[in-house]
Amino acid sequence: MKYLIVVILLAMAPLAALAQTNVLSPEADATARRLMAEALDSDLAWDIVESLTTEVGPRLAGSEAEARARDWGRALGERLGFDRVSIDEFELPYWERGDMSITMTAPYRQALYGTALGGSAASPQSEELEAEIAYFRTVDDLVAVEDSSLIGRIAFVDGDAIVPTQNGEGYGPANQRRRIGWQHAERAGAAALVVRSVGSDSHRFPHTGMMTPQGSEWADIPVIAVSNPDADHLRRLHAAGSSIRMDIHSSAGWQGESDSGNVVLDLVGRERPDEIILIGGHLDSWDLGTGAVDDGAGIAITTAAAALIAQLPQRPRRTIRVVMFGAEEVGLIGAQDYANTHAAELANHQLASESDFGAGNIWQLVSNVSEAGNPAIDAIGKIIAPLGIIRGGNDVPGGGPDISPMAARGVPTVNLRQNGTDYFDLHHTPDDTLDKIDPDQLAQNVAAWVVLTYLAAELDVQFRE
Ligand SMILES: [Zn+2]
Repeated sequence: MKYLIVVILLAMAPLAALAQTNVLSPEADATARRLMAEALDSDLAWDIVESLTTEVGPRLAGSEAEARARDWGRALGERLGFDRVSIDEFELPYWERGDMSITMTAPYRQALYGTALGGSAASPQSEELEAEIAYFRTVDDLVAVEDSSLIGRIAFVDGDAIVPTQNGEGYGPANQRRRIGWQHAERAGAAALVVRSVGSDSHRFPHTGMMTPQGSEWADIPVIAVSNPDADHLRRLHAAGSSIRMDIHSSAGWQGESDSGNVVLDLVGRERPDEIILIGGHLDSWDLGTGAVDDGAGIAITTAAAALIAQLPQRPRRTIRVVMFGAEEVGLIGAQDYANTHAAELANHQLASESDFGAGNIWQLVSNVSEAGNPAIDAIGKIIAPLGIIRGGNDVPGGGPDISPMAARGVPTVNLRQNGTDYFDLHHTPDDTLDKIDPDQLAQNVAAWVVLTYLAAELDVQFRE
């Protein structure tokens, strides 16, 4: 399959080059196609994600493991021939999961599979946390609850499993119970909040993830996500009229200040070194799995794409910058730090994009660039079309979570949209491990990214308004 694609795209090359003479020089067109073919045949991205997930392991933001990941990223950048390798360090409050258990104690005893949400507090050390649950069918039902009406109870928010889709559109709405549920449980005086995991799977893996602070305040109560099958079970018992009780132990909590950082790898442009094409992923991960699809894959795809370009006889016109963002999962802290630390050069960022939606095939290219830059994105779209990628609109803001703070300050974005049908089966669970990545799909990603990155850096086009 891989080789068939290579043959087809090489055969199409002369025709396509003719059609695009006004945007692409024949040389740039040929180089982009050659890079694409090389990427399809390269194991580099696989080697990178295997190394990160195996040698570094899980990389919770602010942990010593995340610090080891930065050292790993720096060494990788040096080995792959980047011209500048640096780390922007920053401080952040550090939250740890600790140990936990959640057991249904009535109508009968049954262990549940749960995990603390990021920002959760511990259960009381001196007394048992065992109580009857108050069942809420949706987070909106909890939001409507009266103050102090849940004293002595554990709130349980059910909701529904996410319906799997290519673009993962069910995630945002479902995520509300994880994000803001605690604010209402606490307002109502609940002793703890338990929510259905935000995921599309039917396994007993719970999905973790960060809650949203209220101003600068975090929860004072334990907040636990249970697996989808456990939530289904609780729903059936509730429908049958059972009084349900739970026992919760958790030692989760904030552990003071710690350090994180962004690893920055540059290929310095030969003609316009100050102009930057920024690509990347996030280096931190949740601690339950090894962060293979979220976001070891994005680190591997974008670093491998830039490393292939580093092998060319000369650098592209503009600087290509790979950023391995730190502390994404805990609230885009690395992304905010990047936008602040590099505020003075953001006006020279021509284009930015992050790979952070797993390792599935890319199916669409969307963008948010100037009218003058749009034909170049169209030309890129034509070159990567044989990879099964369609050109979407130029009216689609985005670029990935870590890009959002710089996009808000006017940096143009593109997005190579991946098929995320199975993404929320794995997302933030113990099941996010290397075996879930398909090497051929990973290579398809690198092939698209290398064309995008190379041509964005090489073409004499302004992507900014
Ligand atoms: Zn991610």
